[in-house]
Amino acid sequence: MIQEKIAVVTGASRGIGKAIALKLASMDMTVIVNYAGSKEKAENVVKEIEEKGGRAEAVQCDVADFAQCQRMIEDVHKRYGSIDVFVNNAGITRDGLVMVMKEEDFDDVIATNLKGTFNCIRFVSRIMMKQRHGKIINMSSVSGVAGNAGQVNYSAAKAGVIGITKSMARELASRNVNVNAIAPGFIETDMTGALSEKVKEQAVSQIPLGRFGKAEEVAELAGFLAGDKSNYITGQVFHIDGGMVI
Ligand code: NAP
Repeated sequence: MIQEKIAVVTGASRGIGKAIALKLASMDMTVIVNYAGSKEKAENVVKEIEEKGGRAEAVQCDVADFAQCQRMIEDVHKRYGSIDVFVNNAGITRDGLVMVMKEEDFDDVIATNLKGTFNCIRFVSRIMMKQRHGKIINMSSVSGVAGNAGQVNYSAAKAGVIGITKSMARELASRNVNVNAIAPGFIETDMTGALSEKVKEQAVSQIPLGRFGKAEEVAELAGFLAGDKSNYITGQVFHIDGGMVI
């Protein structure tokens, strides 16, 4: 009998996280759909998965809060018996030029994107090491690789996520746990929906493939990294950006 796999996707109520949750559910995994505030949206993601014959549950947890992450992860593990895939996807932006950036805008972005990743892997790594298998996928960004004007907070956090990914890959490889990062460029979600038309046009002009990506395209990559076909890949950063950073 094949044991069902349990996947947790943070920030899965919308955008890229939602698309990843749907993809992993289509791969026959039971998916924990984490959200911060969008309860109804997360429950709709669960409904969509169940309507397609899959299994899912919505779980509220602010990834910026260490104790909440411990509670969520230990509770999921206790109730389901394993955590086979963990996707650190939750993220926010608070863009602004550095000379006018508010201190809390720097702190909030670091707390969610960078510390939030640590808060989760701190507890999930112990579980996966004991199981002697697991896949961790961390959401970085082209901004963390190449930088972006107006995003010192976000690019610092996303570069930090790459550092976490590489160190963790080295720490966990002997226990058969793979840790990789995805660095998307501009993807059509609420996050990029907030950009002005002028900024969007400028962005498209820098993308060799000439368009924004779709959340489902990122989800395909995440699905590959979460599945068995990527068993020999760890510590890598995968760009999915239409050729923005080559
Ligand atoms: P999005 O549409 O704004 O959705 C963000 C998701 O993160 C939501 O589900 C939100 O939950 C959740 N979230 C935010 N703060 C959270 C917290 N403290 N605890 C738990 N969940 C939290 O964003 P997206 O565009 O899909 O981005 C997803 C990831 O990809 C992020 O890490 C982002 O930095 C990265 N990324 C995005 C792009 C892009 O172009 N879109 C490019 C590169 C990288 P609620 O709905 O409950 O608020």
